[in-house]
Amino acid sequence: MTVKRNSGYSLQTRVAQALSYVEPHTKGLVPPTYPSTTYLRDEDNEYRSGLVYSRADNPTYRVVENVLADIEEGADALLFASGMAAAVTVFQALRPGDHVLAPKVMYWALRNWLLTLGTDWGLRIELVDMADTQAVKKALIAGETKLVWLETPGNPLWTISDIGEICKLAHAAGAKVAVDSTCATPVLSLPIALGADIVMHSATKYLNGHSDIIAGALVCARDDEFWQRIRMVRKQGGAVLSPTDANQLLRGMRTLELRVRQSSQTAQKIAEKLQALPAVTEVLYPGLASFPGHAVANKQMHGGFGGMLSVRLKNSAVAIHAAAHTKLWKRATSLGGVESLIEHRASVEGTDSPVPDDLLRLSVGIEDADELFADLQQAITSAS
Ligand code: PLP
Repeated sequence: MTVKRNSGYSLQTRVAQALSYVEPHTKGLVPPTYPSTTYLRDEDNEYRSGLVYSRADNPTYRVVENVLADIEEGADALLFASGMAAAVTVFQALRPGDHVLAPKVMYWALRNWLLTLGTDWGLRIELVDMADTQAVKKALIAGETKLVWLETPGNPLWTISDIGEICKLAHAAGAKVAVDSTCATPVLSLPIALGADIVMHSATKYLNGHSDIIAGALVCARDDEFWQRIRMVRKQGGAVLSPTDANQLLRGMRTLELRVRQSSQTAQKIAEKLQALPAVTEVLYPGLASFPGHAVANKQMHGGFGGMLSVRLKNSAVAIHAAAHTKLWKRATSLGGVESLIEHRASVEGTDSPVPDDLLRLSVGIEDADELFADLQQAITSAS
């Protein structure tokens, strides 16, 4: 099912055609890669093209950024060298002393950054259970909390935060809200339409979808002072994407809707079937009616609950053994690619993580659903 959005065409159509892209000189339907790092100054000393140096901007980024801003229903977008570079830029646009709320369950490397370098830099980071809107309300300090960072579904327990309700509370306290929407993607959730100020993506994952570039992105609801500061941090810090990778990202994005829809459907099927296996103690997936965040997910996600789920087995040894015995599922980190991945997250995240050591994270790709389930079933059965 496609949903008509702002410009009249569905997201599926807009992203497949990169907003009806036609290169003006050749009429090519695929944008060229502009490798130039520098641009000719006009004789009167102006830069009328608006382009000076590619650490600040490059036409190849702009095509991708326009598509992303459009499908997220935002005002503008910026590409970065990685998802981490995009996320860290938002925090660097704050000022030392600013109070920040971040989720207890979130991408572990960003949580580590916040608690080490972010804290060293003077941010007052407070970790909150973002699935509990009342806990967020309690933690907000009016006039002092400058940013609420959400990640929903939250990696790797897939906890759901109520974006709309949290935005209302945060805005009333004078704080902005940024949402890491890497796992939801604009296909399933539009945080800006729900009130968010910034959307962040590890474009390495679903946006690109082919596990062959590292990239990040931010989208803003408004081109305001905070966005200008974010732009300045990218320009001065230089965490830009290469034009070649930007073009490759756009190629991946054109199939975003198909891939996410397929992964979500398969993840839903697998989650339901896993629940019936005696060796499985818990399945964590927002699409299951029994999942604590299901009602909120149902309210703010459309067309599916994503391609990510986690499964808990008897103990850590059984989980590691099961991961070792899959044939189709590849034992590797990352997510959001066309190939399905399985990972024992506690081995990655270390002892400070809220992740139980009996948990396997599954990134569902676009392979045949029955073949994927059969492979998991034999691996779990042989391990138990
Ligand atoms: N956010 C989420 C939810 C992620 O899963 C990841 C990476 O796994 C990141 C951010 C960081 O992105 P990157 O690896 O592109 O820096």
